[in-house]
Amino acid sequence: FAQLYAPLNNLGFVYRSINQSLVDTERLLKLLAEPTEINDNPNAKDLIVENGEVEFENVSFSYDHRTTALHGVSFKVPAGSSVALVGESGAGKSTILRLLYRFYDLGPGEGRILIDGQDIRDVSQASLRAAIGVVPQDPVLFNTGIGYNIGYGKFDASSSEIEAAAQAAQMHERIMSFPDGYETKVGERGVRLSGGEKQRVAIARTLLKNPPILLLDEATSALDTSTEKDIQKALQNLQRGRSSLSIAHRLSTIASADLILVLKDGQIVERGSHKELLALDGVFASMWADQITASESATVIPPPAEPV
Ligand code: ATP
Repeated sequence: FAQLYAPLNNLGFVYRSINQSLVDTERLLKLLAEPTEINDNPNAKDLIVENGEVEFENVSFSYDHRTTALHGVSFKVPAGSSVALVGESGAGKSTILRLLYRFYDLGPGEGRILIDGQDIRDVSQASLRAAIGVVPQDPVLFNTGIGYNIGYGKFDASSSEIEAAAQAAQMHERIMSFPDGYETKVGERGVRLSGGEKQRVAIARTLLKNPPILLLDEATSALDTSTEKDIQKALQNLQRGRSSLSIAHRLSTIASADLILVLKDGQIVERGSHKELLALDGVFASMWADQITASESATVIPPPAEPV
């Protein structure tokens, strides 16, 4: 990966003018292991997003044609709503995001993925990816100014647009605390940003891109309370009016999702609101209980050992 980043950083400018949509490629995503070649169908039309409704219709998928990554997955993300994916490692959460971003195509008999009724295999990849914003778990930033990193979301973004996006992403004040403000270099050659700050830069960038559909991969690591609050606020601003599919790891976001899908071995085993799933007292309820116990034991300071 490092070898891929270095030239990318140096060529940042060229890259940006060549293909803006590459912003969201796997280097920023980390969702992709080995891409397969996806070609536009010769009759591909541009995706027309009217409302931003996403639908998975009986989707099954295998990476290697032997083991099943997804099996018979059907769900809808109604326009403007938020759907959270939960489930243990390997359950198929990232596969759902990768398929929607079309890193892999579904074969015949593997179901369909639709955006506002259009099968994503029938639309141009450029138009599909222009409609989708991605906030990865660990965003990669260029070794340039922080303002540039945000402005990357939109060609020709003005400095006031960049600042407004940073405001909405709860990052403006932090940026102003750096000696060079928006010109401050980030990354190896500049200030080091925390995981939560990098994620807010990615949120600001996505706000500028202004896509109707969002893919969010939350950081797994525990965040301190004020960072957590800032990220929640930033995500709320980003998700407003957009359809979103997120891989949820932390309790706080799970609770506010419109719909939660619980995945296990590539299948949806439970679905509903947070309240409904707790009442069901099944897989989700036990995951919830485990997380509560884990977070409690992480914050409780053990009593000093008795002297012997
Ligand atoms: P995690 O929480 O660990 O990211 P996940 O729920 O996102 O897990 P997926 O990455 O979607 O799970 O994986 C679903 C299944 O597909 C797993 O069995 C996994 O081993 C397999 N898989 C994922 N990526 C690939 C790949 N590139 N090639 C082959 N198999 C893969």
